[in-house]
Order: sequence, then C-alpha cells, then structure tokens
Amino acid sequence: MEYVVLLLGLCIGSFLNVVIYRLPKDESIVGPRSYCPQCSTTLKWYNLIPVLSFVIQKGKCPYCGIKISARYIAVELLTAGVFLAVYLRYGITWQSLNYWVFSALLIAASFIDLEHKIIPNEIIVAGIILGSVLTIKTVGLSGLYGIFLGGGLLLGVAVASRGNMGGGDIKLAAVMGLFLGWKLLLVALFTGFLTGSFVGLTLLVTGVMGRKDPFPFGPFLALGSLISLLWGNKIIFWYLNRFI
Ligand SMILES: [Zn+2]
Repeated sequence: MEYVVLLLGLCIGSFLNVVIYRLPKDESIVGPRSYCPQCSTTLKWYNLIPVLSFVIQKGKCPYCGIKISARYIAVELLTAGVFLAVYLRYGITWQSLNYWVFSALLIAASFIDLEHKIIPNEIIVAGIILGSVLTIKTVGLSGLYGIFLGGGLLLGVAVASRGNMGGGDIKLAAVMGLFLGWKLLLVALFTGFLTGSFVGLTLLVTGVMGRKDPFPFGPFLALGSLISLLWGNKIIFWYLNRFI
C-alpha cells in the first residue's frame, strides 16, 4: 500500500507543478497539454513521468536542451513524502483524504507564494469548497470555528503590523482553520510564526533580505499546518501536561 500512496503522491505532485506554473499566469490548468516553456514543444506522455523523466532527461528539455527547474522534481518528491507521512499516521481513512487534499493545496500555495509573493484566490476558493465537503465527517463544527479564528487572528496581525501580513495569508489561515479545526489551527499558526520569524530574522540579520523586501509567509503557514496535522495532538497533549 505504501507504494500506491507514493505513486499517488508523485502524480498529484506532477499535477501541482502544472498548477504552480500556470495559475499565476491565468492559464488553464486542464488544457492544453504540458509544453516546454522555452521551445513550446508539446511534451509526450513519456516526457512527463514523475521523477523518472527528469532523471532520464538529466533535467533538460529533450527537444531544445534548456535546463528544467529543480522545482519540478522537488514538488513531486515533497508531495509523495507528505502523502506517505499522512498515510502512515492515519491509514486509508476520510481523515487521510482530507489531509491529502489539504497538503496538496498547501504545497501549491507555498511554491506560488515563494516565486510570486501571492497566494491565488483560486487556491483559497478550492480549499473552501473541497474543505467544506471533506471535513463534515472528520473535523465538523470545529472547522467552522477554525475559519473565523484563523482569518480573525491573521487579520489582527495584519492590522497590528501595518500590512506586513498579506491578504493571501489571512485567507490561507481561514482555509487552514477549516481543514484542521480550531485546536490544530492554533498549533499550526504557532509553529508557522515561530519558524517564519526565525528564518525571516536570520535573512534580515545576514543581509540576504532588506527590511522592505516582501517576505512570503505562506510556506511557513503550510509548514506549521503539516507539523500540526501530523503531530498536533501530541504537541497539545504534551503542552497541557507540562504547563497546565
Ligand atoms: Zn524545450
């Protein structure tokens, strides 16, 4: 079963690459078939096998030889790894389906945010629609509270920090609340802020990033969400036992 889940993750990762590339350009994600961004040659099915084609073609377009971004293989491997981790934690359940869809949305949002410093509304809308259906049986009412808690908290941060938090982050936090429920959302936001501030401060201190440079917070919210959906309940249990 592990191999089936890995394979599913690779294929979804391959689709996410299309989403990451085309969504910010307002291109359709269902057609036309994938093409080389340099020479525009339509790629054959055997050029598009996750990981394998990349390795065989040595990371180059087989028609014009331009180097293909390592992002493609990174997204595929990352998605497969996360899918496997969710399966090992939750098995074949509604909860796993819920988290597979959620993590796919997070990965797409993160890579688009890293490159373009935006989180497209299409991902937010897809998250709200899919999440509303998938979480009825698993997260339930807690997801509804999560939407308002996530959106509200980050709106507060945005106001307090005078716009250092983007609108995309606020909407993403609402989607996180829906998929995670309000308790795991708090763990996700805490972890996301902790890692995000650490990396952000490091980049500022080392001069890699200037004070005015936009800092993509989406990937850290996504990282926090992944940690929370895998280990959030353990973190809450540990915290309650230790401090309360
Ligand atoms: Zn090419």
